[in-house]
Amino acid sequence: MVSRVIPVDPFDLVIFGGTGDLARRKILPGLFRRFCAGQMPDESRIIGAARSEIDDDGYRAMVRESIREFGGVSEEQEASIDDFLGRIGYEQVDATGEAGWEALAARMTEDRVRAFYFSVGPSLFGALAERLHSYGMASAKARIVVEKPFGHDLGSARALNATLAQHFDEEQIYRIDHYLGKETVQNLMAVRFGNTLFEPLWNAQYVDHIQITVAETVGVGGRGGYYDKSGAMRDMVQNHLMQLLCLIAMEPPARFEPNAVRDEKLKVIRALDPVDPHHIVRGQYDAVGSEPSYRTDVEAPRSTTESFVAMRVHVSNWRWAGTPFYLRTGKKLRGRASEIAVVFKDAPHSIFGVDKGRHANVLSIRLQPNEGMTLDVTIKEPGPGGMRLVEVPLDMTFADALGPDAEAVPDAYERLIMDVIRGNQTLFMRGDEVEAAWAWTDPIIEGWQSRGDVPKLYDVGSSGPEDALMLMHRDGRKWREIRA
Ligand code: NAD
Repeated sequence: MVSRVIPVDPFDLVIFGGTGDLARRKILPGLFRRFCAGQMPDESRIIGAARSEIDDDGYRAMVRESIREFGGVSEEQEASIDDFLGRIGYEQVDATGEAGWEALAARMTEDRVRAFYFSVGPSLFGALAERLHSYGMASAKARIVVEKPFGHDLGSARALNATLAQHFDEEQIYRIDHYLGKETVQNLMAVRFGNTLFEPLWNAQYVDHIQITVAETVGVGGRGGYYDKSGAMRDMVQNHLMQLLCLIAMEPPARFEPNAVRDEKLKVIRALDPVDPHHIVRGQYDAVGSEPSYRTDVEAPRSTTESFVAMRVHVSNWRWAGTPFYLRTGKKLRGRASEIAVVFKDAPHSIFGVDKGRHANVLSIRLQPNEGMTLDVTIKEPGPGGMRLVEVPLDMTFADALGPDAEAVPDAYERLIMDVIRGNQTLFMRGDEVEAAWAWTDPIIEGWQSRGDVPKLYDVGSSGPEDALMLMHRDGRKWREIRA
């Protein structure tokens, strides 16, 4: 299979926060890979803009280092780095002051797509939007890309939407959720809407329940200060898990077009029932051996912020009434795994007389590691000795299925940045979606606050608190294993 790369038109891309962690780890190496893939026309310009006092050459040296460190660069690609750096520049800019803005505006090329990536803290989004406008850079072909967190609650998300809307139309605002840029997530739509096989079964009549797990082995890292004010609900559920839930649960859009897709996602969020407090478990990781506790990591000895959430959610509409969705995410768990599992109902009757060995069909969609899908089916165990049943996976790991070309599959960030340049908003969140997601999560968080809820402790390296297991157990179900 040969991957098809469609070059984009020449563009100017400004990365505000171009010296920061996200730019160095993801954005710049991703752009380099797109460059190597031949997708970036020669005239395109990438301009880092940040507070650091460096010049073009100083920035190029930093970009070179980032690409080498995080780009997974092959020997062949190494030879292209200089060429790529020829497209890179830097402007020292103060987001909240006036320094550097005129010089930045002077670097813009007339009449071409300009993308401004806001890879800075959200408190600067408003100031950046305002200055892009006042320095004449907010042309009709301008787009802005904003990173999570998009607001802290409904009120702040609304305020942020209103601020951005003063200077940019909704069609110019790209709210990024890198989960939507993952190959498997898009494949989920291909599987659902490109085949007749699954869609007839994709409803409460045939699906027993759905599990969405995003398990991390890492802790809060250097983000303790931010994370402790946020917690797993705001940091992961409100955005990433909700987006995955939407794609799984949504009705077929009439076309694979930005607003058609986002309209359907929005309907899912609006169909979510408020969550019964008995159907949510909050957890916080506890020290094991030399592994510190969450409270030590965030340097807040009495913190009651959750590093884990498990919950049972209902989508109250004709398709899903009666089928629970179980969501689970946490830090410092025993394995790193992001997976959606669609667990189908048992066959209504066993013609073999015994249930032994009979399993429900499960379609599991892995986002990481080893992006791919598996369908568990029941077959006869080979050999003589009667009809014994056994469960086997029909496995489609993309790296295997696509062979060497799997390497050419762009990572989420690079794909999404190219979508920005092309002007395709399908995989970006619309303002009303983000607000609806907050409108659903806010009461849950407020409930915890008003009850003085304290998260249940779980050991570092475990699968989360015991109560999370019970959440499933009470319903006669169990979580899929998080593999170490
Ligand atoms: P960072 O602290 O590493 O970098 C911040 C950047 O902003 C630096 O380049 C700095 O020079 C610049 N900056 C700060 N104040 C400025 C000002 N007044 N004027 C101009 N530039 C200024 O942050 P980061 O980790 O790169 O994160 C950037 C954004 O992306 C944040 O909103 C973060 O929440 C979000 N994000 C980061 C990651 C990640 O993996 N790092 C993942 C998802 C979302």
